Amino acid sequence: MVHGYKGVKFQNWARTYGCCPEMYYQPTSVEEVREVDTEKKQVTVEAGILLSDLHPQLGKHGLALSNLGAVSDVTAGGVIGSGTHNTGIKHGILPTLVVALTLLTADGTILECSESSNAEVFQAARVHLGCLGVVLTITLQCVPQFHLQEISFPSTLDEVLDNLDSHLKKSEYFRFLWFPHSENVSVIYQDHTNKPPSSSANWFWDYAIGFYLLEFLLWISSFLPGLVGWINRFFFWLLFTRKRESSNLSHEIFTYECRFKQHVQDWAIPREKTKEALLELKAVLETHPKMVAHFPVEVRFTRGDDILLSPCFQRDSCYMNIIMYRPYGKDIPRLDYWLAYETIMKKVGGRPHWAKAHNCTRKDFEKMYPAFSKFCAIREKLDPTGMFLNAYLEKVFY
Ligand SMILES: Cc1cc2nc3c(=O)[nH]c(=O)nc-3n(C[C@H](O)[C@H](O)[C@H](O)COP(=O)(O)OP(=O)(O)OC[C@H]3O[C@@H](n4cnc5c(N)ncnc54)[C@H](O)[C@@H]3O)c2cc1C
Repeated sequence: MVHGYKGVKFQNWARTYGCCPEMYYQPTSVEEVREVDTEKKQVTVEAGILLSDLHPQLGKHGLALSNLGAVSDVTAGGVIGSGTHNTGIKHGILPTLVVALTLLTADGTILECSESSNAEVFQAARVHLGCLGVVLTITLQCVPQFHLQEISFPSTLDEVLDNLDSHLKKSEYFRFLWFPHSENVSVIYQDHTNKPPSSSANWFWDYAIGFYLLEFLLWISSFLPGLVGWINRFFFWLLFTRKRESSNLSHEIFTYECRFKQHVQDWAIPREKTKEALLELKAVLETHPKMVAHFPVEVRFTRGDDILLSPCFQRDSCYMNIIMYRPYGKDIPRLDYWLAYETIMKKVGGRPHWAKAHNCTRKDFEKMYPAFSKFCAIREKLDPTGMFLNAYLEKVFY
């Protein structure tokens, strides 16, 4: 029996959304990591385990996850709830690492789901949006523990877009950062290495001086928006014009400290549309000098999959993450930029990240997702009274 509490307030990391649930339930658990199958390199975990707690457990068995998003202070259940991704054309979004899960449905049934058992629910539940039931356990496919070397170096938008295929082939986990209001790009390669852990320090960033300066300058720019282009170019010059190298255990390289509260959008578009979409976004900013865009636009790539509500469903994709910081908690006007970006994303067939901002409703999702009605049918069957719905999900499904 799990007891509920009233009066709990929820606030997201960026402090951009919050809610007061009618009741808050927190199950207590006896074990977070149930079973490690070293032969198959699979681990079964409780859905509530933080990835930051999972990494050392896996390390004890010489295992690791083959890919991660930017932070590890997230749960296994949350990561598959919203379709967390990183980059690498050979790699799918993180839910593609799931080989089995157990789901407690609205009527109290516990479903064991995998390719061979309740296969249709499994295909839906790997990006579940929290609406199919309570995910109890998740079995993840792991790989032998590995080290990564990260090399970052400066380039230009034209160079990267003209040589995209070559960059994608050169590095297993290739991504790049574009600095809006400029041609500047930082290319980031991450690849397996045998080198010992090392890092080329950047005292300006590592000691957070750049962080304080950037926050202050962004706050000033809320009164003088024309400064944003200069800030983007200045910080590129300050931090990204030098080649940098570091190596470490994979999870240390994949993740980093996100210091800024921020608003973000992150749509997945067909990979072949990368150049068209980015050049169009750049052209919009050039023709609308009053529209400001903070750095970076982060561009990542993922392999297609067969998960019903995965933004990468049946196609290799490019994720294009735009950002507007909130210096000292202050919102900077972003709606024109947001709308221009969303219009381009929709035009090139994009699908929004489930954990990030978007203005889409059921009508949009029906067009975007070939299997949307299949997911809806599974959801309605598992949760006929809408026990797991909330205001956000009602916008998605009704
Ligand atoms: C600083 C920061 C950096 C980020 N970087 C990335 C990135 O690099 N790539 C990327 O793709 N995303 C990124 N994200 C987004 C992040 O991956 C998602 O927000 C993820 O869902 C967070 O996990 P969580 O454990 O906080 O999930 P929550 O927000 O707690 O949950 C996500 C969804 O899953 C549901 N859920 C959670 N657990 C269960 C369960 N056991 N049973 C049923 N439903 C459940 C919740 O109801 C909710 O609908 C980032 C977010 C932050 C704050």
